[in-house]
Amino acid sequence: MNILVTGGAGYIGSNLVDQLVGSGHTVSVLDDLSTGKRSNLSKSINNIDFIEGSILDEEVVRREVGRVELVYHLAAAVGVGNIVAQPLQSIITNSRGTENVLDACFKSEAQVVVASTSEIYGKSAKLPMCEDDDRVLGSTRINRWSYSTAKALDEHLAFAYAEQGLAMSIIRYFNSYGPRIDEKGYGSVVANFLRQALANEPLTVHGSGEQTRCFTYVEDSVRGTILAASTPAAKSGVFNIGNNVEMTINDLAKMIIAATNSSSTIQHISHDERYGAGFEDTKRRVPDMNRAKTVLGYEPLTDFATGLNKTIAWWTSNLS
Ligand code: UDP
Repeated sequence: MNILVTGGAGYIGSNLVDQLVGSGHTVSVLDDLSTGKRSNLSKSINNIDFIEGSILDEEVVRREVGRVELVYHLAAAVGVGNIVAQPLQSIITNSRGTENVLDACFKSEAQVVVASTSEIYGKSAKLPMCEDDDRVLGSTRINRWSYSTAKALDEHLAFAYAEQGLAMSIIRYFNSYGPRIDEKGYGSVVANFLRQALANEPLTVHGSGEQTRCFTYVEDSVRGTILAASTPAAKSGVFNIGNNVEMTINDLAKMIIAATNSSSTIQHISHDERYGAGFEDTKRRVPDMNRAKTVLGYEPLTDFATGLNKTIAWWTSNLS
């Protein structure tokens, strides 16, 4: 198949590209290298068409989408740190950029998989989080929720285009980690803790550290992504792509210190200290995996200890 991956130089995107190239597809990548990196594509660069450009550039989007049958739309402004630091650019990229991609897919009759996020559920206390649950967000004065809101608009747009005939499916990633995770930690507590642990610096746990997340190894995130495109019954559907093993951030910090043999200590800092006054966090986040299992045949295959060791091995041979 001829496939376009927007955001294909990013952490999940580049892992997806390697997998698609390995399966014999003809792959092009559109990425503005804002958080993605050329080096993420080193394995596949000779076998893909790389276009450095933005999803905000309608002409480029229309041209590149017009060349393919399937688009994986992963390009986005990501990471809580980035969103609160640059809310305007993030909102524009995540709303207008996706509108461009969906419109181009619709007009050229390309199938699209839209990458969304567990942030959609906001701070909902209903667990596990099912795809059709209510969303619970805070005030619009709190920048964090602009990400959830923009991504929700993307999902609404995708559903609306689907009613007009667009072949699409939506996936919601839950806290993905693995090789090529951004070392600055723009989108991940795992990256921050690894960087700190490997430098024997204190691990900065925000708040009490009793908030929880379920971490998904990148190979599992990628497999779920591909299944969302290849499963006919996934059409017009939305799916959690994660796993349901819940972990506190305190336990995550301890595990990372142990797995890296680090002499780091754990330092608790307030969310306000890290993200500015008035920040709101999600206390617990656990996906309901029934729909992904039933419709896509998706199950996470890598447990956290194994995935963490693979990530550490990649980090130490590529970044340290
Ligand atoms: N967190 C932390 N230390 C860090 C980075 C994040 O304690 O250096 C916390 C963060 O406040 C949140 C959780 O870890 O409660 C997950 O944060 P992340 O930014 O990875 O993703 P989120 O699930 O919040 O989108």
